[in-house]
Amino acid sequence: MNAPLSPVAPPEETTVPAVEVALAPQPSVVRRVLRTMRLWVDSHSSLQSEEDGRTPLKVDWLRLMPFLGVHFACLAVIWVGWSWPAVIVAGALYFVRMFAITGFYHRYFSHRSYSTSRFFQFVMAAVGNSSVQRGPLWWAAHHRHHHRTSDQPEDRHSPKQQGFLWAHMGWISAKANFRTDMKLVPDLAKFPELVFLDRFDTMIPFALAMSCLGLGWGLSVFYPELGTSALQMFIWGFCISTVAVAHGTFTVNSLTHLIGRQVYPSKDTSKNSLIIALITLGEGWHNNHHYYQSSVRQGFRWWQIDITYYLLWMMSCVGLVWDLKPVPQKVIDAAGKLNAPATDATPAAAT
Ligand SMILES: [Zn+2]
Ligand SMILES: [Zn+2]
Repeated sequence: MNAPLSPVAPPEETTVPAVEVALAPQPSVVRRVLRTMRLWVDSHSSLQSEEDGRTPLKVDWLRLMPFLGVHFACLAVIWVGWSWPAVIVAGALYFVRMFAITGFYHRYFSHRSYSTSRFFQFVMAAVGNSSVQRGPLWWAAHHRHHHRTSDQPEDRHSPKQQGFLWAHMGWISAKANFRTDMKLVPDLAKFPELVFLDRFDTMIPFALAMSCLGLGWGLSVFYPELGTSALQMFIWGFCISTVAVAHGTFTVNSLTHLIGRQVYPSKDTSKNSLIIALITLGEGWHNNHHYYQSSVRQGFRWWQIDITYYLLWMMSCVGLVWDLKPVPQKVIDAAGKLNAPATDATPAAAT
């Protein structure tokens, strides 16, 4: 949930003088389209891109087309209507994929707040990838960068630095934020299966979209009384739930740095919000998290609802995950002491 270059301040990659960039030969439209299509299939094909060193911090509209397309596709609900099976599948896919973002991409891959087996680590990466928020290494690298530079000019999605819209969704569309910075995720990059998922990050989302179409078609043929169809299941199960998961996640980058209460001296604008915690299954306790990042819990108090933690705790009971990192009592006790010095318990956990 984080990344470094403001739309105002140029990113590290834009250190090439502006005049030099302006004079450099620009690729033709056909070439740009072909390059973008290649990136949709193989996102790592840009690691040595000729554009490296002069990537502008602005919206890459070509790359953004599928993302916008899924938004517009939601309007098709006017024509395809609804049915209980389609709505239930949409709700289930929202819940599972939001949990995969918060419990897997965030609390495991970004912060390593618990342990698991190599096999289940791959399963978690694959389910997280189905949320259509790029690969696990890209997600973790950008999030780790957010914690390192939170609300500073280098922060890639700070509403304080770049405004609400850019922090909410503009930043993900910038070429400067496209690449996975492997230097920030050396602990993950040593697993070839994770690098594979990160590289071909549209493969699983495409398979999920096709599965929704197939499920809807199957139900319409074998259980016509349910009143669903291939297109209806695709719109609800894939499009609507993907857009909901995306904006739910984005609120953590934007709104939790704008609204709510700050109870810890985290040296940034992070805040706690019950409403966002409910929408995001526990990520709304963002000020808690910025103050102490390495805990598997983000709701530090019993009344701070944190569904992701409850589910991870249940998974630990059956042995899928283990070594859940707790919140030290001194961190809990520091709540409300905004003038207190930062606790040394605040880890560089994201690294
Ligand atoms: Zn975090
Ligand atoms: Zn934050």
